[in-house]
Amino acid sequence: MIKITILSGAGISKESGIDTFRDADGFWPKYDPRELASPEALKNNTEKVLEFYNMRRQKMWKSDPNAAHLALVDLENRYDVTVITQNVDNLHERAGSTNILHLHGELDKVRSMDNSDIIVDVEKGRDINLGDLSEDGTQLRPHIVLFGEPVPRMSEAIEIAKTSDIFIVIGSSLQVYPAAEILDFIPSYSDIYIVDPEVPSVQEKDNIIFIKEKATVGLPKLVNELLSR
Ligand code: NAD
Repeated sequence: MIKITILSGAGISKESGIDTFRDADGFWPKYDPRELASPEALKNNTEKVLEFYNMRRQKMWKSDPNAAHLALVDLENRYDVTVITQNVDNLHERAGSTNILHLHGELDKVRSMDNSDIIVDVEKGRDINLGDLSEDGTQLRPHIVLFGEPVPRMSEAIEIAKTSDIFIVIGSSLQVYPAAEILDFIPSYSDIYIVDPEVPSVQEKDNIIFIKEKATVGLPKLVNELLSR
């Protein structure tokens, strides 16, 4: 079966009402989210960090998957599809995609401060506050890769990229590393499609096809074309 790998970024969820990183002002009027999404902030300002992720988790549950998330599910009828997402929302899951790798973590999970193997689901609507403890007695923290922390699933994502016949990037500025490096591992025989209203700057390659449209417009068209082959 032909293998299609998706690399999605914040832009795919934009039309579901979830702000991209660049529109970060919308997230938090007073603080720079980058400053709240750091290990230092988690250590020194735990309550604010938990509050920031509570707000984002609540926003996620008020948002629904859009036509772009749904189009990727249709693709599974004909192709072996893996979604590598930089997003921490659960819109790919709620759309119905079955094979998803979250590179930067998941908003609807939290884990022990001390043991990254103790991960628990957060029920819809629940906030995580100071004093909410993991089974090992430590404060629960967001199951999110904070700036400066290692990206544990990166090597898995690279292996998936290496075996892709078709690779589709949707709504990513490709400015966040190491995620953007995944493109370096796509075989030279694969077609690479980039769906984004603002074409991100990438190393020029003959096999890159830009679709300069919003995700909900460009992606369903591309999926229809791939399904009609
Ligand atoms: P980014 O903000 O750096 O880039 C977003 C990209 O989306 C840009 O290239 C922009 O042109 C494009 N875009 C905007 N509207 C679009 C639309 N309607 N359709 C298609 N594309 C559109 O985001 P990134 O590359 O994902 O990297 C930012 C980091 O921030 C990631 O690590 C991610 O984990 C995190 N983040 C995630 C979410 C989420 O979970 N939805 C939200 C904000 C930030």
